[in-house]
Amino acid sequence: MGKIIRAETAGFCMGVDLALRKLDKVISEGGHPVFTLGPIIHNPQVMSAYARQGVSVSEDIRQIPNQARVVIRAHGIPVDIENKLLARGAKLVDATCPRVKRAQRLIRKHTAEGEHLFLLGEPDHPEVQGLLSYADRKAHVFEGLSDIRGIDLDTRNRYFLAAQTTQDRGEFNKIIEYLQGYLQNSLPVLDTICDATRQRQQEALAIAEEVDLMVVVGGYNSGNTRRLSQVVAGVGVESIHIEQPGELPQEKLRSAAKIGLTAGASTPRSLIDVVYRKLLEL
Ligand code: SF4
Repeated sequence: MGKIIRAETAGFCMGVDLALRKLDKVISEGGHPVFTLGPIIHNPQVMSAYARQGVSVSEDIRQIPNQARVVIRAHGIPVDIENKLLARGAKLVDATCPRVKRAQRLIRKHTAEGEHLFLLGEPDHPEVQGLLSYADRKAHVFEGLSDIRGIDLDTRNRYFLAAQTTQDRGEFNKIIEYLQGYLQNSLPVLDTICDATRQRQQEALAIAEEVDLMVVVGGYNSGNTRRLSQVVAGVGVESIHIEQPGELPQEKLRSAAKIGLTAGASTPRSLIDVVYRKLLEL
């Protein structure tokens, strides 16, 4: 096997890194049981390690005991859930990503000024559910331009536009153009898109141009890892998505002259290092 090109952007984004540091600190302090509302990271190996340290995952706040310490993950949570947890006596540790937090604050400010939210995002995604709660759930959520073309809007209302942090900027720009044309008045646009995902995809595409195949490391349930693998496959380069180093297809890799290595935003650096060393050993 020849050269290996490792992506510099591979691994944790700032928000995931911060959230895990906060969780580590809570664990090290000891005391009441620690819960997260849903998995704090979409990586089964990391989640198993936290389970061994006593961290419980629950999707249902009724299962969380009073006085528990609850770490809010990077996506954030809806205001009403936060209030219910506080009412149950939970001690909240807010690990919402600062970028998501900023989007929540801006949405609350514009809603308080009487504007209606247009939100580009996946309706069922936890981050979107959280963002909507800051608009008092008075909002249009849509997944792309095709969803809002032909929509009947009351042009006497004032609107503002925002996006889930992981949305595509190109699609967002098309929506800005369409809505500004439709409404014929000023449309405040919140700059809420985070470039962490795009930067990973762009670097993966640049590496894909130089290699025979690409190894993408990350949880099978991690949306951004799967997307990274699809983006590479989309330009005709074979992409191998693995969760664990033991899944590397050794024969195939030995016959490749150049291999790219990247990882999703929820993949720990230690795991990427192990895969990198395995590739070097082959
Ligand atoms: S992708 Fe961006 S917005 Fe989402 S957690 Fe990471 S840094 Fe925060």
